This record gives sequence, C-alpha cells and structure tokens, in this order.
Amino acid sequence: MSYVDEIYERVVAKNPGEPEFHQAVKEVLDSLKLVIDANEAEYRKISLLERLVEPERIISFKVPWVDDNGVIQVNKAYRVQFNSAIGPYKGGMRFHPSVNQSILKFLGFEQIFKNSLTGLPIGGGKGGSDFDPKGKSDREVMAFCQSLMTELCKYIGADTDVPAGDIGVGAREIGYMYGQYKRIRDLYEGVLTGKGLTWGGSLVRTQATGYGLVYIVNEMLKDMGKTFDGQTVLVSGSGNVAIYATEKAQQLGAKVVALSDSNGYVYDPDGIKLDIVKEIKEVRRGRIKEYVDAVPTAKYTEGKGIWTIPCDIALPCATQNELNLDDAKALKANGCFLVAEGANMPSTREATDFYLENGMCFMPGKAANAGGVATSALEMTQNSMRLSWSFEEVDEKLQGIMKGIYAKVSDAAKRYGVEGNFVAGANIAGFEKVAEAMKAQGAVL
Ligand code: NDP
Repeated sequence: MSYVDEIYERVVAKNPGEPEFHQAVKEVLDSLKLVIDANEAEYRKISLLERLVEPERIISFKVPWVDDNGVIQVNKAYRVQFNSAIGPYKGGMRFHPSVNQSILKFLGFEQIFKNSLTGLPIGGGKGGSDFDPKGKSDREVMAFCQSLMTELCKYIGADTDVPAGDIGVGAREIGYMYGQYKRIRDLYEGVLTGKGLTWGGSLVRTQATGYGLVYIVNEMLKDMGKTFDGQTVLVSGSGNVAIYATEKAQQLGAKVVALSDSNGYVYDPDGIKLDIVKEIKEVRRGRIKEYVDAVPTAKYTEGKGIWTIPCDIALPCATQNELNLDDAKALKANGCFLVAEGANMPSTREATDFYLENGMCFMPGKAANAGGVATSALEMTQNSMRLSWSFEEVDEKLQGIMKGIYAKVSDAAKRYGVEGNFVAGANIAGFEKVAEAMKAQGAVL
C-alpha cells in the first residue's frame, strides 16, 4: 500500500466520527501523491505524514455564561493548534451551532497549507464554539466572549497563537475577546487580528478575503486572455467574504447577479446593489430576502438553487460543502467557465473532480481565500512595529501576495506535470515549505 493510502487509513481509524477532517486529509494527500511518491523513503524515515496529520495540540473547554434571563448557558469551545513549523499558529475562531472538533480539525489542517502559500511566517490553527451569536443581545455576546477568553487566554499570545474572525466572529466579537485578554493578561499585544482601526487593526483586513479572491481570479483571467469586465458572476453567502468579493468584482467591471444566506438567495439580473446589501447585513443584521423590499425587480427564492443561475464565474463564499456535483453540472451546463472558492471547502470532492475533468478553471479555497489570513499577518507585522500602514499600502501588499500565490500554485502544478490543476498546485506549493521546515527542526512536532 502506498504511504499516502496508509496514512489516510490511519487517519480514518484514529479519528472516528470526523468526516470533514477525513475529507480534507484525503483531498490534500491525494494531490500530494506525486511529491510523496518521489520522496517516499525520506518522508517515511522521519514519519512526515504521520506528524503532519496529527495536531500538535487540541484545547477543548466549556464556556459558561449568563443569558438575559439570568440563566446559565454552557457551550463547547476548542482551539486546534495544528502546526507551528513555519510560525505561530494562525487561524480564525468560528461561532456557529454546527461547530465540532471534526470541522475545526479540517479547517486547521487546511490552514497549514493556506498560511504557507501566503509566503508569510504563520503556522496553522483554528478554533471556535457551537455558540450561535444569531438572535443574542449584545450583552449576551459580550458575556460569552469574555467567558471564552478567560480560558483561551492561557494558550494564546502574539508569538504563540493568534486567532482571528471566521463565521459568526466579526469586529464585535473580536473586540469583546480582545478586551478580556488585555484585562486578564495585562498585555497590549497583537494577540488577535481583525481588530478595530482605533485599537491595533489593519486597514483592508475587513475587505481582504473578498478582495484577495477577486485579485487571484483576475490573475487566472489574465492567463486566459480575459478580464472581469462584463463577466456575469454568482456569489453565495452575504457575509464578510461575499460582500467584499462582490465589491471588488463590481469595481473591475463584473456584473454580480446573486447573493444568498442560509435561508435562500436573491437574483437581481440588473446587478446587485451592494449598498442595500451592506445596510441589511452589516447594519441591521437582517436576512437577504429583505433585498427585494428595496429592489422589487429582484427575485428571492427560498432554499438552495443559486448555482442554477447562468453565469461566467462562480464564487462560493458561504460555507463548506455548499456546492455539490449536481450544482457543478448545472454551472457547467449554463456556461460557467471558472470557479474560485471564497469559503473554505465549499465544493464537495465530487464537484471538485467534475470541474477538473470538465475543463473548468478552478481555484481551491486554500489559495483563493488566503488574502484574509495574509492581511491578518500584515496586521501582526504592524502591531509588532507599532505603526499603521495606509489603505493603499496594505492593498498593494495584498495584491502582491495574491499574485505570488497564483504564481506558486501554477508553477507547482507545472513542475509536477499537472498544468492547470490548481488543487494539486496549491497543496504541493503549500506542503513543500512546511515539509522543509519540519525536516529541519527534527522530531519536535
Ligand atoms: P460570515 O459569517 O460573515 O458569512 C457567512 C455567510 O454564509 C452568511 O451569509 C451565512 O448566512 C452564509 N451561510 C452560512 N451557512 C450557510 C449554509 N449552510 N448555506 C448557505 N449559506 C450559509 O462569514 P465569512 O464571510 O467570514 O466566511 C464565509 C466563508 O469564508 C467561511 O467558509 C469561512 O471559513 C471562509 N473564510 C473567511 C475568511 C474571513 O476573512 N472572513 C477568511 C478565509 C475564509 P446566514 O447569515 O444565514 O448564516
């Protein structure tokens, strides 16, 4: 049995009931097969893959907090410190009822390669809780965040582990967590990223994942002799990533015709009016269906189905496994030629295989959405230097990083004879740097 297959079997056996983690490991290992087979004896000797698939540490704890009725609630929370070979653990915190250890391990594992691709010195980590901020008062969210940080602050630090936002964790939650960290540890340091601009945050961090996604797609289009101008684009979700991907795509001349949330999607053939979406989502924290109250010519459809709308480019920016094989087939049948993932693993394995087998240009999330974590790393740099760069400076650095990622990914695919396969390219390029660092540091992690 090949080394890769052996390790996958071991992961399934030793991590029962963790399908998302198995899925992420399988996808990565399959596309690393070319590199692993070429170096099998060396990697086996240092148990490289056994070490790579095992988190360095998982911290799991309860978060008790008092709701507005005076009742004590209890949530589960985790921090997965996956791999620190190339820098301090770095990855977001997710607050969503679906959060469990499997999902955070899949996200933490993916984060290792994504962070490596940015070219910046950051290791892989991820965390979160099954707490649902939806429908909670500000006071309840604060109580929860403070209780979570009371425990988490023992395990993180500016040079150890630097969490950030993710689904359900925006500027408000980062603020409450940062305040509590500072209060307990008495340290004003860059321990979290995604901070507000008046207390250590970086310009462009809010826009970074969505903008970065569009910047990398722009590079892909350039290689095909195309531009964004006049392209019809579908974006799923209507959160942070979706909103700023829409904004940048529109700035580059694309027509974004749909957005969604977990209830349904809106289709506006005249092009989404983003100011209305921002008012609904960022100010009122409302539902995407409210869009049609302001734009009666748009259509709201309850449930799934966004991928059946004809488009040139699809940017899934909501959540994992939101785009399956049937969706991929519908996209292709309706003329879509490019899919790039703003969310983490939004396409199922079958959908990904379909893109690659059917000549669709596809950029996986670990490369396409790396702009967020890259800008977080730029925030860490500014915190260490105790200064703030201008919007233009950070944006320029972000564009350079996304161009660099595209170059690394397409080069790795070419080197291993799978030109245009950016899934393999991203995994290989991300892996090479981490493997080199793990080899050099010996049997410590
Ligand atoms: P937000 O919480 O801001 O937005 C998430 C959006 O996705 C919401 O519109 C939400 O709708 C929708 N959504 C969630 N679950 C589902 C579902 N099951 N079906 C359809 N829609 C759903 O999160 P972000 O925009 O920050 O993150 C989106 C994705 O991007 C995640 O996969 C995240 O891991 C990834 N990502 C985010 C980065 C960042 O910088 N923010 C960086 C890199 C990756 P509703 O309001 O109804 O829940």
